[in-house]
Amino acid sequence: MHLQFFGAAGEVTGSCHILEVGGRRLLLDCGLIQGGAVPAERNRAPFPFDAAGIDAVILSHAHIDHCGRLPLLHKRGFRGPVHATAACRDLARILLLDSAAMAARDAEREQRKRRRGGDRHAIEPLFTTDDAEAVLRTFRAVPYGRAIGVLPGVELTFRDAGHILGSASVCVRLTEGDLERRLVFSGDLGQYDTPILRDPESGLAGDVVVMESTYGARQHRDREATLAEFGEILRRARRDGGNVLIPAFAVGRSQEVLYELGTHFDEWQLGDWQIFLDSPMAIEASDVYWRHAELFDEEARELRRRGGPMPQLPNLKLCRTVDESMAINRVADGAIVIAGSGMCTGGRIVHHLKHNLPRRECDVVFTGFQAAGTLGRAIVDGRDEVNIHGLPVRVEARVHTLGGFSAHGDQADLLRWYSGLKGRPPVWLVHGERESSDALREALTRQGVQAHVAEPGLRLDLGSLSAVGPRPGPAPD
Ligand SMILES: [Zn+2]
Repeated sequence: MHLQFFGAAGEVTGSCHILEVGGRRLLLDCGLIQGGAVPAERNRAPFPFDAAGIDAVILSHAHIDHCGRLPLLHKRGFRGPVHATAACRDLARILLLDSAAMAARDAEREQRKRRRGGDRHAIEPLFTTDDAEAVLRTFRAVPYGRAIGVLPGVELTFRDAGHILGSASVCVRLTEGDLERRLVFSGDLGQYDTPILRDPESGLAGDVVVMESTYGARQHRDREATLAEFGEILRRARRDGGNVLIPAFAVGRSQEVLYELGTHFDEWQLGDWQIFLDSPMAIEASDVYWRHAELFDEEARELRRRGGPMPQLPNLKLCRTVDESMAINRVADGAIVIAGSGMCTGGRIVHHLKHNLPRRECDVVFTGFQAAGTLGRAIVDGRDEVNIHGLPVRVEARVHTLGGFSAHGDQADLLRWYSGLKGRPPVWLVHGERESSDALREALTRQGVQAHVAEPGLRLDLGSLSAVGPRPGPAPD
């Protein structure tokens, strides 16, 4: 009985761990490695295991760094089921199909580049829409809180992780001969007391815990203060004229922003704004969110009963087509535009930035982390001028960063989740940059917990709960 860490060990993206029980092999997540130039090749590299030899996948949630290589796994021979919550499955459909379209565009671009250099070899996309559709057909919906047999000797129960809709902590009871072990994989954990979603569940029981540590070194800004700041920005913007741009991830953040606009509609005097959700993907994701109201927290369910967060915004316009998006450019004043991508690396927000950044009376409100090297980061860092579509654009608009909107819990949230576990099981930390994982390990160790940072390739004997070597017996496909 073994667990081996392959992805999101020592880094944040590419979550993927393999469980071996009684001769069966099972993956926890199969995510895409994201960011920068090197990872594109890492995603194409052979898996460090035989894809056809994987019997099943358990998927914690729909973010692409957790599910993004599932189509590739299928392409390389995986034929087992993927277990996920129904909401996770619905969101994964949106994200994987988008990812396939992006892979096709990337391959075309690369091909054109090589052709100019005289290379006529065809470039295959990482995976196709057909690969994505094929793996999506293997999804099996598993509700929270119900134990189901996944494989002989593997019983799975999902618990709410409060991170995005349908996100789960994975509890598995493993049996092999006389040996029985309960493993808890946290998945990505949300903040407590966020809107729409329930809090991460407590009371989970495990002999060993694999836990995320994305913000293991951070303390988030207080939610109340964040909302007060958001309201103040919008009130002042209305007084001064101009537009407000809100770059936002399509899944999760867009819905959260809409929800806050809906619940503070009167308080923030939003009646005479035009509000645009300018992202077909965010519109689709919102449909999934509002369809799964059974997963909402009490407050959101109550709002839903009274008409729902979307209808509470009578001045919300959903922009599906490019024409509808371009029409926003004719609005000089009084538009709130929510569009992707969240870090401004592409998507419709880039066009809106081009039109509004040089205007002193406009505002740009960032609600999420901006990675180094992205357009979003350049703006947040206070550059006077940025490059958009190859042209210099002056930054005259006011730029704001709202700190309290993270989908990930901070150190206090992570410690609170751990303290809610039964017993004090040993922990292996994943899904964090080194300094975040180290900070959380130190915080846990101070509380007398046996905590380790999982090195990539580390193989854990679940019987003795000890490492049995970094990379034994790889089986490349
Ligand atoms: Zn996530």
